[in-house]
Amino acid sequence: MSAPSCDEFDPNALTLEQARAAILQACEALTEAETVTLESALGRTLAEPIAARMDVPPAAVSAMDGYALRADDAVIGRELKLAGTAAAGHLWDGTVEPGQCVRILTGAVVPDGAEVVIMQEQTERSGESGIRLNNGGLAPGHNIRGPGTDTASGTALFAPGQLIGAAEIGVLASQGIAELRVLRKPRVAFFSTGDELVPLGQTPGPGQIHDSNRHTLRALLAAYPVEVLDYGVIRDSEDAVRAALERAGQEADLIITTGGVSVGDADHVTRVLQASGQVGFWKIAIKPGRPLAFGRFGNAHFLGLPGNPVAVMTTFALLVRPALLQLAGRAAPEPQTLNARLLEDLKKTPGRKDFQRACLETDERGWVVRTAGGQSSHQLRAMADANAYMVLPRESSGARAGDWVEVLPFREIFPAC
Ligand code: AMP
Ligand code: MG
Repeated sequence: MSAPSCDEFDPNALTLEQARAAILQACEALTEAETVTLESALGRTLAEPIAARMDVPPAAVSAMDGYALRADDAVIGRELKLAGTAAAGHLWDGTVEPGQCVRILTGAVVPDGAEVVIMQEQTERSGESGIRLNNGGLAPGHNIRGPGTDTASGTALFAPGQLIGAAEIGVLASQGIAELRVLRKPRVAFFSTGDELVPLGQTPGPGQIHDSNRHTLRALLAAYPVEVLDYGVIRDSEDAVRAALERAGQEADLIITTGGVSVGDADHVTRVLQASGQVGFWKIAIKPGRPLAFGRFGNAHFLGLPGNPVAVMTTFALLVRPALLQLAGRAAPEPQTLNARLLEDLKKTPGRKDFQRACLETDERGWVVRTAGGQSSHQLRAMADANAYMVLPRESSGARAGDWVEVLPFREIFPAC
């Protein structure tokens, strides 16, 4: 089949998958580790295996509020004498004899002699100091959590590479582990390039705009375990760009820039990198985000993103995210897409895989999707209104209302902080 005329088809452009594979191949996990307290371990990558040091729970405890008794006494209608009370943190250290029971609360250690716990609701009071059972025939262990039934001492808990999330922190705390070894955070240097850019707090003059990309990048990076080095706005001069890159090549593991990677006269990043870095200039067959530079400068990996704000977010989600995860010692899973019914007709020029900003929601038919607004790569507003990308294949020339389309929810690629 011949390529459609009047399109954007470029046979030399990389596919997204090729670009991602090349980035993942280059960005090996950092190996240096550091010790952190459990309080500061959230989001970090474990550097050592951790085994359970103790049984949790440490002893047989009750799973219910009720009465602890011998299994032989668990007979419907039987009356038992109340011998005492065991509460969480308060042992009853006698032995439950035949014909006796002990009032027991959830989390309390089951006293010697007792083999079952009957729920309070399955008993009734009988006389001054006794109960009558409305349940019986219970196997030993009924409503009892045995020692080590959550984690047993000596068993492997977590392997190196494990992301430390809230559940892992809870498990480690239950083991009394207050410090752990994690991989050090990747250091990420970033700067914006462009003579048109002014920082916040300064009123843009004629032809100038506020630098938004650096703020977007900082916000995107906040969801990752990285140390950020914000170099600000760098002017469109070869000397300024070279100085920033040389510093970043010393200080960082990864350099991210925005702007200056196309072929315009003012694209000094490209020229400096061509002269001093080992960087490839890619055209990627995606929209937005076609021009991208990737390679090394000094000791750091380098990712030069396009300048257009929507392209910055999109290339970050699709290509910087896997690099960051892998540097941080984590797996970089393929984002999971879903299929949704399109609510309106869409136009597209064949040639690039299109990531259109979209609103995904459900109605009585299931997932449905519509455009979030202007689709030009400077229209960041539509990005703010969207919660997903509609992913239209490279060869597609559009879609009709009612078609099934592939959708990439933002939650897959823009993790919340
Ligand atoms: P460039 O890739 O440098 O040619 O920039 C492409 C477009 O993105 C131009 O319209 C720039 O003004 C805009 N742009 C570049 N950097 C930024 C930034 N940091 N914040 C907002 N817009 C930017
Ligand atoms: Mg520029």
